[in-house]
Amino acid sequence: MKVSISQVGEVISFDLSPEKSDIDHIQTSNIKLAENITRINLQGIDVEDIHPDFIGLVTILMCHPFVGKELILPVKVSKFFYDEVNKVLSKYKIISEIDERISPYKPPIRSRPGLAFSGGADSSAALSVMPGNTVPIFMNRPMKRWSIYDSDAPLSNCKLLGEIGYDVQIIDCDVEYLRKPVGFPSDLAHAIPSILLAEVLGLDSIAFGTVLESAYGIGHEKYKNYPEGAHRRFFGSLLNAVGLELCLPVGGISEVGTLIINHKSPLGEFSQSCIRGKKGNPCSKCWKCFRKGMLSSALLGTEFDIKNYTVKNKEVKEKLSAYPISHENVLVFSIQNLKNREDKNLQLLRDRIDSGLDLDFLKRWYSPSLELVPEKYRITVEKKIDEFLDVMTSKEERILENWDMEDFLLKKTTKDAHGRLKASF
Ligand SMILES: [Zn+2]
Repeated sequence: MKVSISQVGEVISFDLSPEKSDIDHIQTSNIKLAENITRINLQGIDVEDIHPDFIGLVTILMCHPFVGKELILPVKVSKFFYDEVNKVLSKYKIISEIDERISPYKPPIRSRPGLAFSGGADSSAALSVMPGNTVPIFMNRPMKRWSIYDSDAPLSNCKLLGEIGYDVQIIDCDVEYLRKPVGFPSDLAHAIPSILLAEVLGLDSIAFGTVLESAYGIGHEKYKNYPEGAHRRFFGSLLNAVGLELCLPVGGISEVGTLIINHKSPLGEFSQSCIRGKKGNPCSKCWKCFRKGMLSSALLGTEFDIKNYTVKNKEVKEKLSAYPISHENVLVFSIQNLKNREDKNLQLLRDRIDSGLDLDFLKRWYSPSLELVPEKYRITVEKKIDEFLDVMTSKEERILENWDMEDFLLKKTTKDAHGRLKASF
């Protein structure tokens, strides 16, 4: 894959030219290359003024799933960056000229953290536990006529955060349209604006709203030791290669905990996970509305009418038909705590997911995750989390570390309940 870069006015474009090995690779992948160009508007910043290693890294993040054998970067990079990224990239090689005169980026003395901000509940909870000088950076995906995506809620929330003093950055970028189906081409791709702006904003790290379910795997079948895992090694090393640190302030907090933080934090009202409805008026149809709505009812001790979502809603029915269901632990916690948990409409779902394990510990913080925060911010983050949540006991930490849904999913009663739930849709 050969990438070139150009700028017209404020818009910087990355042009992707796939070669034969890339085309062969894409053919075998579920993720297709839908466009050959991606655009980003850095509001007047000249491409010549961006550290070349940052351009190198964002090229990797946008091209990652489409590269067969080699990725030719659009700029000369520092020797440090070139060596470091090639150490962790195993599926393909980076090809670039090295310019010995380029020194790697070093954050300034009065540096601050950035946050790849989505406007959703988890990202907002991350902002609530980060230092007050954190810069939320929102990647604004342009709306297309055929898409149900609506940027009204995140843009309104960014505006409100700006009004209370946050140095919010809203950056137009269409990188999500590079791939088909639409989405981020790699896990850190929504940090592309944050990386390109790191020097201008004086950033030392980039935070993400990754929650316990994703980091430690408990929204899936089995616990994984995230700090020692491949994901952190890979993406952490890529950020380190440009002088930035990876920061996961809510990595030890479940979706249950992030919603508790949003209920308590003054920033909570500036979050909305649904990206289809308008601000303050979520669509009440999508999977996120279903999951967060049920959880919110559980935390507030109110009733939840599942029929509102499952009678006509294809997306919710499809997600509930998965085995296991994504973030199944959050649904179990919710169903165990709803006021109307004995309701006959909830019976089929409860039979399918409730193993009887008490998940009350999801309300608390898994404190070993503090190592996912850069050292200089640990004291602040710990203090702020402490304002909102209790810490898990060592017994609860052990339950978490032994998380394994396999036996439950293999049980005949669970499989039968899954069949009955699916048949009801
Ligand atoms: Zn929605």
